[in-house]
Amino acid sequence: MPEEKFSESIDTETLEQIAELAAETDQERCWPAAQLRSLTEAGVSRWDIPEHYGGLSTESTQMSRMYLDVSAACLTTSFVLSQRNAAVQRIVAAENEELKERLLPGLAAGETWATVGISHLSTSRQHLGTPSVAAREVAGGYVLNGFVPWVTGVRHADVLVSGGTLEDGRQVLVALPSETEGIQYGGTAEMLALTASATGNLNLENVFVEQWQVVAGPVEQVMKSGGGGTGSLTTSVIATGVAVRAVRALLDEAESRSDLEPEAKQFERECDRLVDDILATETGSTGSSEQCTPQSIRTRANSLVLRSAQAYLTAAKGSGFVSGHLAERTIRESMFFLVWSCPAPVAQSALREFACTPSWS
Ligand SMILES: Cc1cc2nc3c(=O)[nH]c(=O)nc-3n(C[C@H](O)[C@H](O)[C@H](O)COP(=O)(O)OP(=O)(O)OC[C@H]3O[C@@H](n4cnc5c(N)ncnc54)[C@H](O)[C@@H]3O)c2cc1C
Repeated sequence: MPEEKFSESIDTETLEQIAELAAETDQERCWPAAQLRSLTEAGVSRWDIPEHYGGLSTESTQMSRMYLDVSAACLTTSFVLSQRNAAVQRIVAAENEELKERLLPGLAAGETWATVGISHLSTSRQHLGTPSVAAREVAGGYVLNGFVPWVTGVRHADVLVSGGTLEDGRQVLVALPSETEGIQYGGTAEMLALTASATGNLNLENVFVEQWQVVAGPVEQVMKSGGGGTGSLTTSVIATGVAVRAVRALLDEAESRSDLEPEAKQFERECDRLVDDILATETGSTGSSEQCTPQSIRTRANSLVLRSAQAYLTAAKGSGFVSGHLAERTIRESMFFLVWSCPAPVAQSALREFACTPSWS
């Protein structure tokens, strides 16, 4: 596992600052404002937004390399940024020119922040009989009513990308300025990890959405259009970045403890292979390898981050169990990937792995 960073676009000093602030962000549960500011200063807010709106096109793996480094340094920062980028990506993919003209220049300049509240359209509350948010078509737009269960950075965003389901089952994705009448903000959640991401919920009460705010739809399964859906490559990249952190720390421990070396090296090889496969998948050079479908990559990333975090804790012993130790934070953060944007087959694989019969039984 190379100690050097993956990203050519983010300098070492910026990454070191982000890593230094990570423990405090986690312990104090504070929004990672300084980290996000330094990434904006590095130009990240402009990436993957067309130049016409003030953005900058990026090379195919540039974003992933940045996520690998930033996740290794501070998961809160990379996760919060990924939710902003998911919202931006949806707006960029929209066919609605007025929407793009109104929102993208501010987002590209880093003057406004966006987030998504979309899980109720794909992964969350799917077993309930009725949609979490109901949409009704009216003259000039739509009216939304219901509950948005998960919104990261809920009170930090100027634009919320969310959506609802029409009576006929089609879904509409919309952009809601945070001041929109009828949005009621719930509290933010205390969580096993990532409390600093300020993730909360919303109630939408008779929220009127004009046509210029429509991001996509109405169409069935709106989250399957426009890319970046549940279990997208980005979620795997972020999981892998946390695994990189665990493997590097394990290798550091192994430098002076030869008993740790074989397993540390084994993790290093697995991690290197996964990073290579992710980057090759992005450039389309993996062919049709079964190991490199988005689902396989996410399954591998989830498994690696969980196992490597536990290996690091095992090596760090009781010291690593104390609140504030890097091993303690890493193990809590590794659990996040079991629940975040996790497609059912990936969750099933994790359950199978947990239930497998150990060789000693
Ligand atoms: C820290 C964090 C930040 C997040 N940020 C965002 C965000 O910014 N935007 C966003 O859109 N999403 C976000 N998510 C949501 C995430 O991507 C998943 O959608 C979410 O974790 C799914 O969990 P859920 O409890 O809502 O699932 P649900 O499926 O609603 O499950 C809730 C409960 O229902 C029960 N249940 C589940 N399935 C069934 C079933 N088939 N039959 C009977 N009972 C069942 C279980 O007891 C379960 O605990 C975030 C999640 C976390 C943890």
